[in-house]
Amino acid sequence: MLLVTGAAGYIGSHFVRHYLKQNPSAELVAVDNLSLGNLLSLDGSCNSRIHLYKTSLGSMDAIAGIFDAHEIDAVVHFAANAYVGESQIKPFKYFENNVVETLKFLQVMLAADVKQIVFSSTCATYGNPKYSPLNEAHQQRPINTYGSTKLMIEEALRALSLSSQLKYAALRYFNAAGADTSEKGSEIGESHEPESHLIPLALAAAMGRSNQPLKIFGSDYPTKDGTCVRDYIHVNDLAEAHCLALKLIASADFNGDMEESANSGVAINLGTANGATVKEVIAAVEKVTGKNVPCLAVDRRPGDPPELVADYSKAKAVLGWQPQFNLEQVVESAYQWELTRRY
Ligand code: UDP
Repeated sequence: MLLVTGAAGYIGSHFVRHYLKQNPSAELVAVDNLSLGNLLSLDGSCNSRIHLYKTSLGSMDAIAGIFDAHEIDAVVHFAANAYVGESQIKPFKYFENNVVETLKFLQVMLAADVKQIVFSSTCATYGNPKYSPLNEAHQQRPINTYGSTKLMIEEALRALSLSSQLKYAALRYFNAAGADTSEKGSEIGESHEPESHLIPLALAAAMGRSNQPLKIFGSDYPTKDGTCVRDYIHVNDLAEAHCLALKLIASADFNGDMEESANSGVAINLGTANGATVKEVIAAVEKVTGKNVPCLAVDRRPGDPPELVADYSKAKAVLGWQPQFNLEQVVESAYQWELTRRY
C-alpha cells in the first residue's frame, strides 16, 4: 500500500484523487498534520479507501506506528511549507518543517524497510538560470530558503541511496496551478491561507473578491515585458507524473541516473517548456473571466529568479509523460474552482 504525506494539501489531494481513480481497488494511507491541508480535499467518492492519520512527520513514534499498522511499499512525500516569500522571512520554519521533519520521517521509513519514495522537489533548487529552458543537469544553487530546503532533501536521498537500498524519484515541479475538473465541476482546488500564488490572487482580483489590486512583483526583470517568467503546470499533470514515477522506481531494472553507479535515484523536471510572464498570466485570467484584473506594480519580491522554464524532455523519455494542459486551460480550471470552491 502507498503512504502519502501532505495528502490533504493542494498537490497531495489531487494526487490522491488521481491515484485512487487510476487504481480502483487500491487503498492508501494519508498522513497530514492538517496545519495547511484541508480535510474536505480528501472528501469524495473514494474516501472509504483512505486511511487518514493526523500527525506531523517528526512524531517518530506515531509514524512508526503507522508503518507497523499497514504494509507500506512506497511513499509519496508532499508535506512541506512551500512559499518562497515566507521562506525568506522565516527560514528556520522551513529548515524545521521541510528538512528536520523529513529526515526524521525518512529514518522511520527506512527502519520499517520501506525503500521507495517519490519526493516533491522544485525548480527553486536551480536558482538563477544560466540558460533556459532548464534541464536537470543545470547547477543547483537556490536563491531562497525554500529551494535550499528541497535541495537538502534531494542530497539526503542521494546519500541514503548510496548507503541503503533506497530508490527515489525527486520530481522538480515548476509552478503547480489549476484544479481538478469533472462534469460535476471542481470538488478540489487550490486553497492556501494566506494565498500568495499568482493565479488564485489574479482570479480573486478579477472576481472582485480582493479589496486591493493585484501586486506585480518587479517590472524591471530582463524578460520580454519586465515581469518574471514562470512555467505553470496543471496539478493533474503533476499527479499523473507521480503515478508514472512510482511505477518507474518499482520496476526491477530501475537504475539511478546519478554519476555514482550505486545510486538508485532519479531527478526529473515537471513543467511545460512554455514560460509565461506575470503580465501574460494576468492577460490569460482576463480572457478566461472576461473581467479586468486591477494591478499595481511594486518592488521585486526577494528570492525570485527572473525566469524558470522547464526542459521536460527527460520526463518524456524516462516516464513517457507529457503535459496535457496549456496556460489557458490551467487558468480555466482554476476559475471553475474559484466559482464553486468549498474550502
Ligand atoms: N507574483 C506576483 N504577484 C503576486 C504573486 C506572485 O507578481 O501577488 C509573481 C511572483 O513574483 C512570481 C510569479 O508571480 O514571479 C509566480 O509566483 P507564485 O508565488 O505564484 O509562485 P512561485 O514562483 O513563488 O513558486
